[in-house]
Amino acid sequence: MANKWRIPRDVEEAVMARDKVCVYCGVEFGSERKTVWSWEHIVNDISIATIENIARCCVGCNASKGAKSLCDWINSTNAKRRGITIDSLSPVVLNALGVEWLNSGEAPL
Ligand SMILES: [Zn+2]
Repeated sequence: MANKWRIPRDVEEAVMARDKVCVYCGVEFGSERKTVWSWEHIVNDISIATIENIARCCVGCNASKGAKSLCDWINSTNAKRRGITIDSLSPVVLNALGVEWLNSGEAPL
């Protein structure tokens, strides 16, 4: 069974248990507008519904990232303005960034 975002139930449960804060900016999830969480595909491909690619992030980061690639977004002024640094990123994001850099042949941050 998968939810309406086509995320399999076991992935959903694992990610719910793992991500207690935004995987990008580190904000703790809550009910305030700035702390509401959303499903995120770290690499923007909805066919990749694995625990390495599905995460929870705040709606602000989700909106800011939009359709940009992870690498482009992390290095953007918008992301920097949100306080996103190498230290605020979750291991799952750092892992995905490593994969993205390996695939692109570009140097890390
Ligand atoms: Zn965030």
